[in-house]
Amino acid sequence: MHKQDQQEVLDNKGFKKQQELLEVKGLKTYFYMEDNKVAKAVDDVDFTINKGETLAIVGESGSGKSITSLSIMRLIQSPPGKIVEGSIKLEGKDLLKLSDSEMRKVRGNDIGMIFQEPMTSLNPVYTIGNQIAESLIKHKKMKKKEAYKRAIELLKLVGFARAEEIVNEYPHQLSGGMRQRAMIAIAMSCDPKLLIADEPTTALDVTIQAQILDLMIEMKEKFESSILLITHDLGVVAEVSDRVLVMYGGQIVEEAPVHELFTNAKHPYTEGLLASIPNIDADIERLESIPGVVPPAHRFPKGCRFAPRCKHVMNKCNEANPDLLEFDSKHKVRCYLYED
Ligand code: ADP
Ligand code: MG
Repeated sequence: MHKQDQQEVLDNKGFKKQQELLEVKGLKTYFYMEDNKVAKAVDDVDFTINKGETLAIVGESGSGKSITSLSIMRLIQSPPGKIVEGSIKLEGKDLLKLSDSEMRKVRGNDIGMIFQEPMTSLNPVYTIGNQIAESLIKHKKMKKKEAYKRAIELLKLVGFARAEEIVNEYPHQLSGGMRQRAMIAIAMSCDPKLLIADEPTTALDVTIQAQILDLMIEMKEKFESSILLITHDLGVVAEVSDRVLVMYGGQIVEEAPVHELFTNAKHPYTEGLLASIPNIDADIERLESIPGVVPPAHRFPKGCRFAPRCKHVMNKCNEANPDLLEFDSKHKVRCYLYED
């Protein structure tokens, strides 16, 4: 675990300073399609993740969340995709400048990842124990016996009471929630500094969803790591994140601490997302949804990318895309309504 990295750093006034783990700057990931079309899936994205922090990226399907996380892992299929600009610094080291073999080490040791459907990342022909042990042997240079012992410990840590039996079982023998637990055990086996979770609970029943989120937070604390949580579900965001980025059309349209976002949302898109959360306390169902759809990344409008769906649209919104501006020090918004 990362004790030595987590020493308190004080600024010149003696206040505890938050330490940056990941810094993404000016990231552009484009797909070059047939007929010379270019899909700007991620189009000039900046953000940071501090040590120990859970940062959420939220937005409807097609807004660029997964391509952002795959860019960090350098798992963009090329061609047709390409990271065309920007930097992705993990503790100051630019991942975009690493060789493929150095990047493989980063994936095994520094960044763990879990996806929506664990069946696609678990190998059906190997036992759960084998898959955890494999990662420990490869990245932590453990001997086989030691690796299996650690695999059982990790399975216990993620909540398997029958860990000694689960090591010998195959992915198809587990339920969806159990598979996601096993994926978390694999992701944590490398003791990552950053855990990227892309829609980790979307495929699960509601009751299991909460357990998996709790487990992720528990693991984050235990391993002293940070989390990048990607979800289309603001309910999930409210439960576990510290800070939120709202993405639309390959860009960040709002950024705020989680409480601020839920009490003082600025962007009409964020307001729309908030209004579409089902409220179980409300007497009448007042579920609103935002009319229209997310534009495909090869056909963004000239002005604000949300303008065609926005109920506050003004003339200038159709002319040029607004910049992401600081509303106050921790709250940023990309919208002409807040320009002075
Ligand atoms: P999200 O995870 O937010 O649902 P993605 O990051 O997967 O969205 O995708 C964002 C957009 O990038 C998509 O809507 C699509 O327009 C574009 N895109 C993704 N993959 C490709 C691809 N292989 N070819 C062309 N466009 C793509
Ligand atoms: Mg996605």
